[in-house]
Amino acid sequence: MSTPDPDCIFCKIVAGEVPADVVHETDHSVAFRDLSPQAPTHVLVIPRSHFPNAAELAAGEPDAAVDLFHAARAVADREGLDAGYRMVLNTGAQAHQTVFHAHLHVLGGRTMGWPPG
Ligand code: 5GP
Repeated sequence: MSTPDPDCIFCKIVAGEVPADVVHETDHSVAFRDLSPQAPTHVLVIPRSHFPNAAELAAGEPDAAVDLFHAARAVADREGLDAGYRMVLNTGAQAHQTVFHAHLHVLGGRTMGWPPG
């Protein structure tokens, strides 16, 4: 398991040091509502371990990367996103990644546009 980053807001959420509206947890992942929701359902699924993005997570802890997708599916089921949902993995600043702890956005409850902005 990687070392938590003391300056990382998502590591603090995993540690329970910063409150979050947690909707699902597994041994590897924590899912909580986004502070600034972009859809009626907007949940972030994050690994408990600190990796800067999903690609690094997959390289470092493949089981935790797979678990992220299982947890996202569980969130979508729980939230009743039967009509569909979008999973987003912003990777790097140009892709609008703002928190450099791997996270998967689960967005649903409205019709999505394409291409994404
Ligand atoms: P990114 O732009 O890096 O893909 O997504 C980061 C997301 O984290 C944003 O949607 C932002 O609203 C959310 N976020 C940032 N800080 C916090 C926080 O302290 N709590 C929660 N629940 N969400 C946060």
